[in-house]
Order: sequence, then C-alpha cells, then structure tokens
Amino acid sequence: MSSTTIDGLKRLSLDEESGHMGSARRSTRLQAPTPPPVTAEPILHGNQEVLDQWLKHYWQKLEIPASELPLLAITQNRQEYKHWTGKRLNTMALGCYCYIPAINTSSRLQRAHHECVSHRHLIFIEPDMQARSIEVTIAHELIHLADRVRGTPRRHHHHGYDAIAADEAAVTGYGLEELRTLLHEESARLESSRRKRRPIRYLYECPICGKHYPRTKRYSQPVSCSSCDKQYNPHFKLLLSSTASGE
Ligand SMILES: [Zn+2]
Ligand SMILES: [Zn+2]
Repeated sequence: MSSTTIDGLKRLSLDEESGHMGSARRSTRLQAPTPPPVTAEPILHGNQEVLDQWLKHYWQKLEIPASELPLLAITQNRQEYKHWTGKRLNTMALGCYCYIPAINTSSRLQRAHHECVSHRHLIFIEPDMQARSIEVTIAHELIHLADRVRGTPRRHHHHGYDAIAADEAAVTGYGLEELRTLLHEESARLESSRRKRRPIRYLYECPICGKHYPRTKRYSQPVSCSSCDKQYNPHFKLLLSSTASGE
C-alpha cells in the first residue's frame, strides 16, 4: 500500500540495524493495518495524562479540525504500533506518524451495510524520554498529521534542519539548536539502552571502501555496501570481518 506514509523521527547518523544496505529482502508492509476501533475520544495508550495534555495543546495551536480527533490513536508501545500500522518501525525512531487511507466503500454490498471505514491517524511516541522530548515529539508528529489533513504531506530532507524542524521550533517555542540537542540526546540514550539488551556481535566490512557495519545478528542473506551501490551488488558484498566472543 504505497498510499500509506510513514514518518520516522530517526537519529541523524545511520544505524547499523537500519537496513540501509542494498538487499533483496524488505517490503515495508508486513500485513494489513489493524488500527483500533474508532471511539468518541482519541485513543491514548501510555502515559495518558502527559499525552492528553500535549495533544490538546498542540492540536489547538496547529489548528487541526476537531473532526479528525476521534480518528487518532497514539501508543507508546512499539509492538502495538507495529500491529496497528502493519509496518516495521525503525528501532531508532523516537516518534512516528502513519496515515491509513479510508477504505474504498464503492461496492454496493458495503454501502448496504454502511461499512464506511474512515481514514486514521496513528502515532508512536517513545516512552523513555525526558519530559521536554516527549512534548516536542508529540508536536513533531502532529505537524505531520496537520500537513496530511491539509493535503500537503512533507518528507524530511534532513531531520532537525529542514522546514519541518523550523515549524517545530515555531510551534513549540524551543530553539532549533535546542531541538537538535534533544534529538541527539534521546537517540544516544535509546541506542545505549538497545545496546545493553542486544550487544553488537558481528562486524561486517565492505571489501571495496572498507565501511564497517556492526550488527547484533548475522545477516540472513547476502547484503552489499550501500555507500558503493544503492542496489544490491554482489561486487560490494559485505564480508564478516570479526565476531564477538561467546558466539
Ligand atoms: Zn518527522
Ligand atoms: Zn563500500
């Protein structure tokens, strides 16, 4: 479903797990999206008080129509978000916005049953962050939502440095430098907590340019260096250069 867009607030440098290698695998859609049922109020799973506070604040500031509010669901649980969207969620994403288009109810049978399935807005917010970062991440994802509602979705050119970052600074009142610092701090924290759980065991290397690709798991199939060729290219096939002890 290419009409579904996903945005990940990612760390600025490439992550070893981010799948930036040219590889035969990967379709972003794992399964059909299964968002939670629409209720009168938006769905908030996680720290409800905090989510509710900033949601209301920035919804109003961004002048998003109230009619979109019941179509929103926010979770701070990665597994739940993946289940809702049916997509992979970048392990280093601090926040994510996903738009689920309305299901086309053109069939007579569906109309007869009044099965009008509306579009949905799905947001993920990383729970393990400083209060300020939770706030600005909510603002950030709501900017994507507001763009989508206006019919002018934007892509990132460079996280923390593009037009979306400028809007984020304007709406939150934080300086751009401050926002970049928060992004770096939270990315570093998330990375180190992941490292503790999943230490790097494998170090792959490009035989041509020498770029290193640290991994927590072995690649399940051959991958090639993305710096040398964006497509999979056996000429730049990564070689396992070292393995941590214990494996
Ligand atoms: Zn974004
Ligand atoms: Zn290379």
